Amino acid sequence: MIEEKIMTNRLDRGYFLYQKEFEEVAIRVLRSGWYIMGKELENFENSFAAYCGASHGIGTANGLDALMLACRGVGLKEGDEVLVQGNTFIASVMGITIAGATPVFVEPDEYYQLDVARLEEKLTEKTKAVMVVHLYGQTAKMDEITAFCRKHNLKLIEDCAQSHGAKFLGKTTGTFGDAGCFSFYPSKNLGCFGDGGAVITNQEELCQTIKMLRNYGSKVRYYNEEVGVNSRLDEIQAALLSVRLSHLEELTKERQDAAKRYLQEIKNEKIILPKTREGCEHVYHQFVIRCKERDALIKYLDEQGIGTIIHYPVPPHLSKAYAYLGYRKGDLPITEQYADEVLSIPMYNGITDSEQERVIDVLNRF
Ligand SMILES: *Cc1c(COP(=O)(O)O)cnc(C)c1O
Repeated sequence: MIEEKIMTNRLDRGYFLYQKEFEEVAIRVLRSGWYIMGKELENFENSFAAYCGASHGIGTANGLDALMLACRGVGLKEGDEVLVQGNTFIASVMGITIAGATPVFVEPDEYYQLDVARLEEKLTEKTKAVMVVHLYGQTAKMDEITAFCRKHNLKLIEDCAQSHGAKFLGKTTGTFGDAGCFSFYPSKNLGCFGDGGAVITNQEELCQTIKMLRNYGSKVRYYNEEVGVNSRLDEIQAALLSVRLSHLEELTKERQDAAKRYLQEIKNEKIILPKTREGCEHVYHQFVIRCKERDALIKYLDEQGIGTIIHYPVPPHLSKAYAYLGYRKGDLPITEQYADEVLSIPMYNGITDSEQERVIDVLNRF
C-alpha cells in the first residue's frame, strides 16, 4: 500500500471538525443581506477581546494591517525606531515600515523569542517602541520586556499572529502592551476562511483611532479626518471566527498534546527539540526543530512522504525588500544560524496518531 503523504498542514481537517457549525453560520450571514461592519463583527470583536482579557477588539482585513494600524495608532512615524526581533516573519517588519518607522533588529534567545538582554544595546534617542513577536506559539519574557518599556518610556506592540491564547505567567498575549495584533490567516491557531486580523487594546482612545484608520480615516461616514485605509474584517469571516473561537481551548489542547508526544518520542541526537520557558504556556502554532544537516533532513523526510517547511529561510534583515536598511550577512549571527537550521514538522488540528507515529519514526531513523 502506498501511504498518503503527510503534509505540514491540513486546513481541511480543521474545517471538518466543526463543519456543521461553520456551514450554519455561513448561510446565516449569506442570507442576512449585511456583509460588512455589522453585528457579526461587533460580536466577534467583543468576544475575542474578552477571551484574551482585553477591553477592546478591532477587526482588520489581515494581520499585516493589524500591525501597521497599531503602529500608526500609537503614533509611530518617520524617523522613529522600533526594536523587533531578527528571526520573525517579515510581516512584523512591514507593519513597522509601512507605518513609516524604522525597524532595529534584536537577536533572539534560545526559545526563539526576543532576547531581553540584548534590548538595551540597541536603544537610541530615536527608539520609540518595541514590537515583540510571540514566535511559533510561545511567549517572550514579558515581565522584563514590559519593565524595559516602562523604564524607557516606549510603546509596546505585540505581534500575536502565532500565539492566540498563549500565556505568560497566566496573562494572555496581546494584553501586555499598548496593542496586541493578530492574524486569522487560515493556517493560524485561530484561522478564518480567507484573510482576517484584529487588534486588541485596553485603551479606549487607541481603539477609536484604529477604528477610524481602518475605515478610510472616518468616524462619521463620509467625514474623513486622516488618510486611512480600507481594512475591515468581513461579517462572514467574523461569524466563522466566532465558531472557531468557541472551540479554541480544545483546539489548543489538541496541539499541546501532539507536541507532548513529539517531545517524548523524537529521539535523535542530530535533532534539537523546542524548549518552553518556565511560566509560558506554549500553544504550538508550529513545532520547530533544529538540525545542522537540515537540508539533508528535508530531503530524507520528503522521500519518506513527510512534508516540512522552514520558518523562515531568509531573515528580514537579509531580504531584498530591506536591502536599503544596509544590513550584511553576519550582522545577526544567531538569527542567521536559526534561519539555516530550523524546520517545522507536521502540526495541525486533526493530526492523527498514526501520522505522528510515522513522522516520529522517520525522524528517529535519520
Ligand atoms: C501570519 C503572520 C503575520 C501576518 O498575518 P497576515 O494575516 O498573513 O497578514 C504577521 N506576523 C506573524 C508573526 C505571522 O506569523
